[in-house]
Amino acid sequence: MLRSHTCGELNLSNNGQSVTLSGWVQRSRDLGGMTFVDLRDRYGLTQLVFNMETNAVLCQEARKLGREYVITVKGKVAERSNKNPKMPTGEVEIIVDYLEVLNTSKIPPFTIEDNTDGGDELRMKYRYLDLRRNNVRDNLMLRHNMGIETRNYMNDIGFIEVETPVLIKSTPEGARDFVVPSRMNEGQFYALPQSPQTFKQLLMVAGFDRYFQIVKCFRDEDLRADRQPEFTQIDCEMSFVTQEDILDTFEGLTKYLFKTVKGVEIEKLPRMTFADAMRYYGNDKPDIRFEMKFVELNELVKGHDFKVFDDAELVSGINAAGSAGYTRKQLDALTDFVKRPQVGASGLVYVRFNEDGSLKSSVDKFYSEEDLKKWAEAFDAKPGDLMLILAGSANKTRKALSELRLEMGNQLGLRNPEVFAPLWVVDFPLLEWDEETQRYYAMHHPFTSPKPEDIPLLDTHPGNVRANAYDLVINGVEIGGGSIRIHNKDLQKKMFTILGFTDEDAQAQFGFLMNAFEYGAPPHGGIAFGFDRMCSLFGGSDSIRDYIAFPKNNSGRDVMIDSPSPIKQEQLDELRLLINTPEKK
Ligand code: ASP
Repeated sequence: MLRSHTCGELNLSNNGQSVTLSGWVQRSRDLGGMTFVDLRDRYGLTQLVFNMETNAVLCQEARKLGREYVITVKGKVAERSNKNPKMPTGEVEIIVDYLEVLNTSKIPPFTIEDNTDGGDELRMKYRYLDLRRNNVRDNLMLRHNMGIETRNYMNDIGFIEVETPVLIKSTPEGARDFVVPSRMNEGQFYALPQSPQTFKQLLMVAGFDRYFQIVKCFRDEDLRADRQPEFTQIDCEMSFVTQEDILDTFEGLTKYLFKTVKGVEIEKLPRMTFADAMRYYGNDKPDIRFEMKFVELNELVKGHDFKVFDDAELVSGINAAGSAGYTRKQLDALTDFVKRPQVGASGLVYVRFNEDGSLKSSVDKFYSEEDLKKWAEAFDAKPGDLMLILAGSANKTRKALSELRLEMGNQLGLRNPEVFAPLWVVDFPLLEWDEETQRYYAMHHPFTSPKPEDIPLLDTHPGNVRANAYDLVINGVEIGGGSIRIHNKDLQKKMFTILGFTDEDAQAQFGFLMNAFEYGAPPHGGIAFGFDRMCSLFGGSDSIRDYIAFPKNNSGRDVMIDSPSPIKQEQLDELRLLINTPEKK
């Protein structure tokens, strides 16, 4: 062994022991008579001391060590005169009597420190150096713990982990597929799974009863901070269950992970219907760390010659408690915020409830103080509060007000990343109408079961049918989603018809599943959690990249291995692929 101990474990109880340590040179300080080197490995840092007086040759050698050199040292553990209480090994140092350089290092392109000087792209290019930094490594440790604890919990309650294939055919999770050409089957392609959805359902038909898998999924979508082209799910499915059983089981997993990984106790998860989430938060993933619910004002505001409100389908607002002191400048900034194209409102109306009880609004021309009093009552506002109101078409107004609510939550410090507010959003609509293509899409996926009591509506008002579908939302982030599935061939067939599939298409794409349903499919349902998102939420970050060892950038590139990249002509020939490069302009 090139070491007797790690760099993170020695303390005063080891005083006087002879030890061997190996690791990387974090930094060295040459103080003339003495040279101090901090030696680092995954477990911590230990201070090494080289003394000019007692061993000049060795000390000279130590002075030549550069950052990130890999070395082995032997020496004695000694008590430090200058202790560092912040370091676990801060009470001791090693008086070195043997030094061997195992490898040298170029000067790293950025400092390997908690606060590094390296920009994102540079750190991605040298990710293996970035991964040497404590905070990045800690993120992956957290991910490791989450994975282990998930497996412990699932195993304890009888779930078995089954691997499903990666080379499959298209799965309908609503994104574009990544495809892989098949050499042996000319002109044919595999698709990478957007999720193991159909396979886990087949495992239920096979009688596996309780399945889970921590699994890679692939979706060719535009990227954001919380999206990667390949990501990981905790994917689960159960047989002979109702929605209630699934919510119970996975509420259990959620609480268990918070407890074991974060030491946080979570109360019973509240439930909110999709309809209420949209109505009160304008969002199917409401951040309920704070209230600030929407208040609809249509009845109170119409008929006062204020055209903006009179013409609006919806007038709705929020009450920002204690914010009456917002200055003109701050209000203008909020108006600019709601007018940004991503938010999409045409303007912002405000009412200040002054400390002296008077009310002042940006629409005083149209509304008397008596009118405003009624609004304040509707908002349950108190002196010192600020009411912010938007108007327009219902969907747009809700979306914009949701953005404004979150922005106010940020400005007022109501979105503390160390506070966790999970909930279930339930009763999603089964279908979503798309104006552009003039057809219905499955809101979750085509295997989701309608609520039995809503099945008759499938023929008359498909848009009103509710699904047995649910999402786990934490702090405004969709962490998981699932549904009770259709397990009856005829209902599944009907669903495909409503979604615009011809019988032939449905048979070609999903015949295997419908055939399986003819051999005794049990009632079943499941859920999948976004594992990367869960890790970043637990770690208090907005970016899932920080929790992935080798992530891709916003253009879907791995800049370290430089991928995607062209392949050789021989490979193309073998696959019988022609690349049609557009003419260069
Ligand atoms: N396959 C679904 C998804 O990836 C999850 C599920 O319905 O279990 O969102």
